[in-house]
Amino acid sequence: MRFALRLLVIGSLLAVLIIEAAAWMKRHRSDLPWTELDLTAEPGRFTPAKIAELGSDPPRCRALLTEAASLSTPAPDRIVSESCGYRDGTRIKGTPEPSPAGLVTSCPVAAAMLVWERELQVAANRHLGTSVRRLLHAGSFSCRRLYGRESGAWSEHATADAVDILGFTMADGRTVSVLRDWRDDGPTAAFLRSARDAACRSFSTVLSPDYNEAHRDHLHLDTADRGASGWRACR
Ligand SMILES: [Zn+2]
Repeated sequence: MRFALRLLVIGSLLAVLIIEAAAWMKRHRSDLPWTELDLTAEPGRFTPAKIAELGSDPPRCRALLTEAASLSTPAPDRIVSESCGYRDGTRIKGTPEPSPAGLVTSCPVAAAMLVWERELQVAANRHLGTSVRRLLHAGSFSCRRLYGRESGAWSEHATADAVDILGFTMADGRTVSVLRDWRDDGPTAAFLRSARDAACRSFSTVLSPDYNEAHRDHLHLDTADRGASGWRACR
């Protein structure tokens, strides 16, 4: 009898544990390395690595964009040399619109932007009481090495796996500039910092004016795939 009672208690505890664990995993899908990426879900610990991995699987990347109702569309391949070019070009469209229009990035950057833009709107609402209408950018694809040097590693821009953001035009007409407003101590700077922190939840590399002088006027966002190391930069 005592044995049966013990068995019942242990069984019930186990059942509760399993139910709790399942509920936790459901809430934290994006925090687990083995779950499928969902671009409509709230980003988690492994979202940047999962998005970066899409670079090796353009059809899956495009399918995920479609599934997430992204308005971005495929763009023609561009091959300049062995180190420069892309085969997963994506014309960025949606809310906010990129300015100038016609921004083409790699598919993973388009996926990361989709996730980031939702968080961006929440931050704009919280800090400035408005929404973002336009993303002011300095482009994505550029056949260059890191810091424009003559030799050394190629920039993520050489494969359109990066985008530089200069600022935002808000729905109420005001403009927010990384160069002008980053060092401010009011809500505009708070919004810019939130925008940077939110980008770290979908891009594997985020470099802001806090990183160095070369980034004083823009946020560099990229989806470099660093494999299992999961190394990320958010500065
Ligand atoms: Zn850049």
